[in-house]
Amino acid sequence: MTQVIPAPIALMTTAFPYLVAVTPTGEIHEARDLHALDYDGQPLDRADLIPLPPGATVAMMPGRRAVGLTAAGERVAQPATVGWALSAFLPIGYTRTRVPAYEMVPPDEMPANAETLPFFGYTALAGIDGELYVAAVPTDDPAHWLPDAFDVGQTERRVRRRLREEPGNRVLAHHAHCALDYQCPTATNLFYDRWEGAIAVSAGCNARCVGCISLQEDDGLVSPQDRLTFLPSVEEVVEVGVAHLTRAPEAILSFGQGCEGEPLLQWRLLERAIKAMRAQTTMGAININTNASNPRAVARLCAAGLDSLRASTISARPATYDAYYRPVGYGVAQIKQSLITAREAGAYTSINLLLYPGLADAEDEAAAWVDFLRETGTHLVQLRNLNIDPELLLPKLPPRGPALGIRAFIDQLHRELPDLRIGNFSVPLTKGADGVRVPLH
Ligand code: SF4
Repeated sequence: MTQVIPAPIALMTTAFPYLVAVTPTGEIHEARDLHALDYDGQPLDRADLIPLPPGATVAMMPGRRAVGLTAAGERVAQPATVGWALSAFLPIGYTRTRVPAYEMVPPDEMPANAETLPFFGYTALAGIDGELYVAAVPTDDPAHWLPDAFDVGQTERRVRRRLREEPGNRVLAHHAHCALDYQCPTATNLFYDRWEGAIAVSAGCNARCVGCISLQEDDGLVSPQDRLTFLPSVEEVVEVGVAHLTRAPEAILSFGQGCEGEPLLQWRLLERAIKAMRAQTTMGAININTNASNPRAVARLCAAGLDSLRASTISARPATYDAYYRPVGYGVAQIKQSLITAREAGAYTSINLLLYPGLADAEDEAAAWVDFLRETGTHLVQLRNLNIDPELLLPKLPPRGPALGIRAFIDQLHRELPDLRIGNFSVPLTKGADGVRVPLH
């Protein structure tokens, strides 16, 4: 095991971000003679690192040997007995800029069940002066999403009480499961009558995303959440929806959750539910998180009273989008038209950009994003760290240009689209005199 080098104080201040690794038994150790690298073999530099933020976790990447760079510029992998690669998982509100470096061990040395790593946002780490630093940038205020806003005991009490009050509502029962078993913030908010609340409606989907979090086709892969298995009634949706819209300050009611397929497949149900809810209240904002595959359905929902639409996507280029989403019967053209349709109907539009360093920030991908966002007039880009094992994702993607870097990509969007808002979360809305939805703040 490479021990922490006991050096005289003078040497303690480190000249460069150095490799940190973890033994198979979980001890983190420093290799101060090795410069930390990212997945593409680029040295991590201080300018791209921030101290490990509160709420972040670090985890070993079993079967992946930690890799660093010697002063002579030689790439060195740690023996598996000394050090697996170490990854950080960022708290919400932070955007990853680099992926960890590692070297896969041969198949016969691969620990059991480690061929493909679980769906997490693997983020590069380094040591500086004895502290852990991550390759990330803060991109939004996470106050409404941090674990300490969701007391487990209080959540249980609130869920039990609400289920006693409304025993027959399957939507409520489904999201009770999400709140208690997944600590899902938007499901939990339904039981706290605050912020953004979730309503899932669709068991099916017209895409087959490589990293789908609610349904994985490949036996060897486990989706982090179970997908909804029933079709709610309009009445069940309206009961939960109106309660949230009228009780929660600055309420957002969102269809399209991680525990379901594609909500637009149930647009007729949503159209009736939105009309019924808007007949009872004008409060809050009704939002849909969607793959935006059906512009005509979007037009109907906007006419019914939909206030905002968030299109989840990974690329503005059809080849890259199709490689990841594996869409059935739609593509980037329909997504573009859905955003334009919603905007023209006065709804607030956003992109949920599944972000993987080296993908959206590749020169050609970034240029396509600028054109797409300008053409659709999208109001907000929500940056979402894509939770996936690099070995599962990268072989499936088409070639792309050299990477600008995530920070440079964000700067480019700000520079070329000055009115574009960039963050991580949907925003509470209000309706202007002209009926156009605008952020409350
Ligand atoms: S669009 Fe959503 S539900 Fe459908 S496959 Fe992709 S991640 Fe899964």
